[in-house]
Amino acid sequence: MKIDNFNFKDHKAIVRVDFNVPLDENGNITDDTRIRGALPTLKKILADGGSLIIMSHMGKPKGKVNPKLSLSQIKDAVAKALGTDVQFADDCAAAADMAAALKPGQALLLENLRFYPEEEGKPVGIDKEDPAYDAAKAEMKKRQKDFAKTLASYADVYVNDAFGTAHRKHASTAVIADYFDADHKMLGYLMEKEVNAVDNILNNIKRPFTAIMGGSKVSTKIGIIENLMDKVDNLILCGGMTYTFARALGGHVGDSICEEDKLQLALDIIAKAKAKGVNLVLGVDCVAGDKFSNDANTQICSVMEIPEGWEGMDAGPKTRELFANAIKGSKTILWNGPAGVFEFDNFTAGSRAIADAVVEATKDGAFSLVGGGDSVACVNKFGLADEVSYVSTGGGALLEAIEGKVLPGVAAINA
Ligand code: AMP
Repeated sequence: MKIDNFNFKDHKAIVRVDFNVPLDENGNITDDTRIRGALPTLKKILADGGSLIIMSHMGKPKGKVNPKLSLSQIKDAVAKALGTDVQFADDCAAAADMAAALKPGQALLLENLRFYPEEEGKPVGIDKEDPAYDAAKAEMKKRQKDFAKTLASYADVYVNDAFGTAHRKHASTAVIADYFDADHKMLGYLMEKEVNAVDNILNNIKRPFTAIMGGSKVSTKIGIIENLMDKVDNLILCGGMTYTFARALGGHVGDSICEEDKLQLALDIIAKAKAKGVNLVLGVDCVAGDKFSNDANTQICSVMEIPEGWEGMDAGPKTRELFANAIKGSKTILWNGPAGVFEFDNFTAGSRAIADAVVEATKDGAFSLVGGGDSVACVNKFGLADEVSYVSTGGGALLEAIEGKVLPGVAAINA
């Protein structure tokens, strides 16, 4: 079912959102992007005349009640954002009466789902090596189904709008969907947008297609790099992985971050790009610092000749130009991971050059998707989030989707 085609009047809808918002030490929300992201779905349900049961996780309480991670702290902010009162159920697995009493237009927020180990479905307090682990896991899977069934019993419609956890097969993100038929389960608007954005990148490519992969390590990006290799015209690899490639090619990288056990992998990537006709763009020069700090002394040097005691911390001027030229004229762009230690103001130039080129290409008609962990913080830092086509809210979920994996949260709705 598509959310736009469903009238929630007189229905009770249970909606999985991602309200895992950052809080300061006094429990105040420091960034409400995730709450704002879910509003179109939540408001549609209330405006149709449905009643709303909102569920989410917060942090990693590991199956135990932890007041610091209580969703009661955000109840008022959710009410304000929705423009209506929100009730709170302080035990998410014992909220049947409160859910049953909801009238059309009323909303109920459930306590943190992860206060129950059943949400994640992983056995607690037992080591994977323990001979009893498999039995404990099977037992927990059974309990997970019961937990999902309890949550499902609160409502007659299930909506999943939590893209951030769509790559997890948890009670509230996937298992619960088994208790609703195809006409009574659907993706929320945020999930639809995210899934369409990934679809544009993977299946609706306008060429040239340029992927920019940065961040700290090649090892965490290899799955995506391999999947993209069959699709892209230009592949820019930047950030900390630059130095693993430079080392693999015989360079001296000083104290730069370098994965010595991934040198062969780097050479394989280079060979694969050549064989597939992909234009692989690697950094040639860098801004090196004499300590990992914003006030480090700096020098520009070749990535192949970084002196001992110095480490590559940002893309150098020649590299920035190479990157910008590859990005300019692209019609599809994916950017994941910064080109340097952008958290330090003195090492933002590489990421900034990429951001500016992506914005320019977007103005010229490219579809640009920025997402996954730090790249979002990076475009936000530059104030450019509104000037790219789409900024994904998903970290791990986005990366797994781009790797070509089917997300359990999406598969459960389509099953
Ligand atoms: P990731 O989570 O893998 O996307 O990595 C993001 C992190 O990579 C950011 O915190 C950056 O500061 C870091 N990073 C980028 N370039 C470098 C570099 N040359 N050396 C060390 N860290 C880097």
